[in-house]
Amino acid sequence: MNRFKHLYIYMLSDKVDYSSILTYLTSMINCNVEGRGEDALYRGLDRHCIAEMYASCRIKDIFKDINSNNYTTHVSEDDVEYELSILNGAPSKPIVYDGFRLQYLYSNMIDANESSLDNVHVIITDRLLATYNEEDMRYHLNTIVLGYPSIVSIDGIVEAPAKPKAFYTLYYYHISQGRKISMDEVKSIFKDEILEHDDPRLTDAAKGYIMQALFYNMLNDVPFCDDKRCMLYNAHWQDEVIEAQIRHGRLCSKHREMLDEFNKKYASS
Ligand SMILES: [Zn+2]
Repeated sequence: MNRFKHLYIYMLSDKVDYSSILTYLTSMINCNVEGRGEDALYRGLDRHCIAEMYASCRIKDIFKDINSNNYTTHVSEDDVEYELSILNGAPSKPIVYDGFRLQYLYSNMIDANESSLDNVHVIITDRLLATYNEEDMRYHLNTIVLGYPSIVSIDGIVEAPAKPKAFYTLYYYHISQGRKISMDEVKSIFKDEILEHDDPRLTDAAKGYIMQALFYNMLNDVPFCDDKRCMLYNAHWQDEVIEAQIRHGRLCSKHREMLDEFNKKYASS
């Protein structure tokens, strides 16, 4: 089990309540928990460079892996201008970024003095992330990209896990019957089983995903749990996210024991 002393949370999304998240993490893990703004990540880098970095991570075709050797990255000035406007606070469009490339670029931004195993870095973002799957040769949206640093996508928590099957069945049933029903009407029927972009429950969901990042660093391995009520469950459906992260919002007994062991070890040394 790896030990670490510092957990840095980079607060790039404004859709979650960080004081609740930081209080929760401090109560759970025996290490120094620190919330940081974007300046701690961008560290005085030129805005144009940062915009170029984001533009270089954009996925233009979900069937083409932008990290493959035969892919030529083309960064247009329009894309850079758009990214600059986002950095300056303009509302964003649903653009999807390559999670591994962004993670690599973020890893180079982290202060070298803090780039040791003593430190865990987790970036909370609104940007939609996807990673390329070799098996079906296409990109899939992610809620989290584990690694150094780990990246939790708040918009990904809303968009990546599929809505319940009954959601689509109801929607398409109405369409097939020639009845008008809007997506918003269907969403209101399923509001307890799906998450929306302005949903206050995203804060609790984010806590669970940050715990997944913590366990990844602790175990040096993918931390997913088979127990559907454990925060470390790898949910593919929205109702599973709600079940694991909101209705239960706890670790299973096995993972709770692991965390207790970590906290005890750290306290006694
Ligand atoms: Zn578990």
